[in-house]
Amino acid sequence: MNEPTSVSVLTGAGISTDSGIPDYRGPQGVWTKNPQAAANAQIDRYLADPEIRRASWRARIDHPAWGARPNAAHAALVDLEHAGLLRALITQNIDELHQRAGSAPEKVIELHGTLHRAECVSCDLITPMDEVLARVAAGEEDPPCPRCGGIQKSNTISFGQTLKPEVLGAALDAAQSCDLFVAVGTSLTVHPAAGLCGAALDAGARLVIVNAEPTPYDPFADRVINEPIGQALPALVKELIDAAR
Ligand code: ZN
Repeated sequence: MNEPTSVSVLTGAGISTDSGIPDYRGPQGVWTKNPQAAANAQIDRYLADPEIRRASWRARIDHPAWGARPNAAHAALVDLEHAGLLRALITQNIDELHQRAGSAPEKVIELHGTLHRAECVSCDLITPMDEVLARVAAGEEDPPCPRCGGIQKSNTISFGQTLKPEVLGAALDAAQSCDLFVAVGTSLTVHPAAGLCGAALDAGARLVIVNAEPTPYDPFADRVINEPIGQALPALVKELIDAAR
């Protein structure tokens, strides 16, 4: 592969499974094993049903993200950035493991938001999630917004919600202005995230896919790597850095 100078990366749940966070749509995925959890993640159900909200807060307290540490794949993307090759790091993940690994926050585009903050659906107040979870732990089963009393949720995109236009715009820009687009650990079945591959290809970038399972974009990729991400991504990044030297 000849030397790319500007690489945009899209990561999905598969990059975090080595950190102990299950994916959604894989064989052991959260939605695969418990379709009801997916139904409860619909925004209109969440807003309408206090019992779903109470269950959601309990699930947030128990979320594996809180104890998770970044893995070798996250670290490899920090190396890519330090080598001056990273245009942007677009992620579908809400775990902030890229930032914890050391990726510069301004390089990370969180398509689906972050679990580390809560938001009020009425007045849009953003609060650190640990403050809200402390209230849940202290006995408030569905803690209302401290400013307006509205319903709070995690600062993430629920089913039935659209992506924030400015976030999607930044991601599209990153896809269209790189010479190599790398999709890692994502099934590429959920739009608009999956469409970023198409946008990168249309703009002339090459595409590399690193994923355990086949994706709909495999036929269009210059290279498809079905090896475990924890080994495959560090190897790919090393190759890119060596080629750029
Ligand atoms: Zn509020």
